[in-house]
Formats: sequence, C-alpha cells, structure tokens
Amino acid sequence: MSLKCPLCGSPVAAIPVNLDEYFTMCKNASCPFPLNEQDIAAFFAPAPTAVAAGKRKKPAA
Ligand SMILES: [Zn+2]
Repeated sequence: MSLKCPLCGSPVAAIPVNLDEYFTMCKNASCPFPLNEQDIAAFFAPAPTAVAAGKRKKPAA
C-alpha cells in the first residue's frame, strides 16, 4: 500500500498498534492526519503479519 497524505502530500506509514492491527498515519510529524479526520476507525486495518500467520505453513523438515 502506497498512499499519500491528503493534507500535506507526504507518504503515509502503517504503524503497528498491536499484534493484529496497524494504524495508517502521515509520516510528517508536524501533520495531524489522520487525527483530524472524523472517522479515525477507518484508518485501522488488520496487520499483514496477522493475515500471513494464518496462511503460514511449517516448513517440511
Ligand atoms: Zn500529512
């Protein structure tokens, strides 16, 4: 996912908040996005690692 901040145009980063979720926010430390948005919940998403863990198979030894 490569998104840009609608406020300042900087790239946005997916910051892990726990093992199962990450939060999308602007890399520009002086930019409030997305904390200025009404629907903050929309910027939370399942962590890719959590999805991958469900698909992971043990390597054949
Ligand atoms: Zn920004």
